[in-house]
Amino acid sequence: MIQNLRIGNGFDVHAFTDGNKLILGGIEIPSDKGVIAHSDGDVLIHALIDALLGAAGLGDIGMLFPDTDPQYKNISSSILLEKTLELFHNQGFELINIDCTILLQSPKIASFLKDIKSRLARVCQLPEEVINIKAGTTEKLGFIGRSDGIAALVSVLAYKSEKLNP
Ligand code: MG
Repeated sequence: MIQNLRIGNGFDVHAFTDGNKLILGGIEIPSDKGVIAHSDGDVLIHALIDALLGAAGLGDIGMLFPDTDPQYKNISSSILLEKTLELFHNQGFELINIDCTILLQSPKIASFLKDIKSRLARVCQLPEEVINIKAGTTEKLGFIGRSDGIAALVSVLAYKSEKLNP
């Protein structure tokens, strides 16, 4: 039923600093700059979590995993994604596809996109062909263009398997 389809979008930004780690989709990317964050600062997974919560009507990542809560300090975002997927599935939702865009000026990440896709497919228990990951720059414009930070946008399509409430 087309009425059972739900779209969700997510967006996240983190600032860069020298020496920190850069983790995208659970994969560590070699980089002289990494993100400043309470968790591991995985912008791609944070945006994916928000897209899942958006499709399911469950609020946002800050409500679920407050950055004031010490239990989430330096936590792997993949663990937060697993918790979110459990909630999502418990509400009767199934994922149909995931489309991601990562925006950063440097480092170049094209050679890592395949690994990121495989890992997301494994964590989300989806075939790789329903996951798409794009990367781009902002043509040296703005904070991303100056390599002061990184952003990610994610859209998901979901299906609610339970009968919808009237
Ligand atoms: Mg974040």
